[in-house]
Amino acid sequence: MSYPDTQLLIDGQWCDAADGRTIPVLNPATGQAAGRVAFASQVDLDRALAAAQKGFDVWRKVPAVERSKVLRQAAALVRERVASMAEQMVQEQGKPLAEAKGEVLMAADIIEWFAEEGRRVYGRIVPPRNLGSQQMVLKEPVGPVAAFTPWNFPINQVVRKLCAALTTGCSILVKAPEETPASPAALLRAFADAGVPAGVIGLVFGDPAAISSYLIPHPIIRKITFTGSTPVGKQLASLAGLHMKRATMELGGHAPVIVAEDADIALAVKAAGSAKFRNAGQVCISPTRFLVHASRHDEFVQALVAQTERLKVGNGLDSSSTMGPLANARRLQAMAQFTEDAVQKGATVATGGVRLGEVGNFYAPTVLTHVPLDAKVFNDEPFGPMAAIRTFNTLDEAIAESNRLPFGLASYAFTQSLKSAHQLTHGLQVGMLWINQPAAAWPEMPFGGIKDSGYGSEGGPEALEAYLNTKSVATLCE
Ligand code: NAD
Repeated sequence: MSYPDTQLLIDGQWCDAADGRTIPVLNPATGQAAGRVAFASQVDLDRALAAAQKGFDVWRKVPAVERSKVLRQAAALVRERVASMAEQMVQEQGKPLAEAKGEVLMAADIIEWFAEEGRRVYGRIVPPRNLGSQQMVLKEPVGPVAAFTPWNFPINQVVRKLCAALTTGCSILVKAPEETPASPAALLRAFADAGVPAGVIGLVFGDPAAISSYLIPHPIIRKITFTGSTPVGKQLASLAGLHMKRATMELGGHAPVIVAEDADIALAVKAAGSAKFRNAGQVCISPTRFLVHASRHDEFVQALVAQTERLKVGNGLDSSSTMGPLANARRLQAMAQFTEDAVQKGATVATGGVRLGEVGNFYAPTVLTHVPLDAKVFNDEPFGPMAAIRTFNTLDEAIAESNRLPFGLASYAFTQSLKSAHQLTHGLQVGMLWINQPAAAWPEMPFGGIKDSGYGSEGGPEALEAYLNTKSVATLCE
């Protein structure tokens, strides 16, 4: 199965780094090099920045309806290319082929939604106090954007940022993940092939810290958008603040799953249990802290363990695999530490808790029960295939535990009571809540967190608002 080397995209041209430097890309299922990716230096960044400015000057003048047509064409190309894009993604990221295909098709869906929504960026006319004047509120593109995206969803983490920028008339320079470069490159290629003018989109790889510390303060860049861990997000947000740049931060989470006394256990296990192991748990909205009413604990654990043990862990290209390897060796190491710490503090391993084999980054889907509150897994984002379970007795107690951590991204609840659903809706300090269903991150719904999980939204009309400046104009017409 072929896997391409990845180049930079600067000023409409796919090119090597100026100094020719490349680094290897590893296949997480085999540990072997799959290909190489160009590694940008400051010379490349300077070219990319100049192109982004030039691209912005062109693109902002393209009518929204024309921009929309280009996006629709990009979506069509993504749909056409789904097979090759998904196969490349599996080879660099590890997820099962079906999940990779789902991610690519979801990207096409997201592009189509933004193509429509971008045509509805309206200003307003405000009644004046002096009837001889006219008052207008205009929405204008914020300018060239710098986007930093991670390796867990190599396409979907880029596509929301790309679409929000393009539909509002901004140009965008993407610093995509060095560990999974071919997927974002394939996505940008679809946009370039669809007719996005040179410079409007750019793609670079290299040293993440060196690139962000150069791009964020740079006067050409007017907005930052980042998805990744909370500690890095705080650094980048501080730098953006120092240079008065707009910023969207989609950071870590630690999603609670509240299984109430009256929950449909089969539904809770099917929905939250499946979501837990999707993408081997490397998902910012992954269910993590399972809070189960004490009276339903044993029933829930038994069903979750049975479902978890039916997962087939293997190379994502093998059609029978339902969970792939972790995307990099850092996560494998982290899983071992989370398990060891929990067990040492008194948790029980109900299933999993071990590395599988010695080749590739395979870790068994893991369920931990009786997890003490001070266990690392109940406080730090595991970002891996690990469900940690505790019991509760009252809904107030479950809500208090859910709100205990500094994160506030996703949450899940299972209850058959409208009253409990209402209490949870208003009591949980999160950006997203799914009740009696798995997460459904549709583009028309806001996507983002609060507290240490960041700010801004990558879905719904709010996603576009983050790329727009507001201009207030009053004209005396007499
Ligand atoms: P990390 O914190 O070093 O990196 C996370 C992402 O940020 C990577 O894509 C990396 O390239 C980028 N990054 C790191 N330092 C940067 C900098 N100074 N400037 C710009 N970008 C920078 O850790 P990691 O090992 O890659 O991932 C581990 C943790 O990151 C996970 O435990 C999880 O909490 C978080 N993460 C979150 C998401 C998400 O979807 N929110 C995705 C990937 C990783």
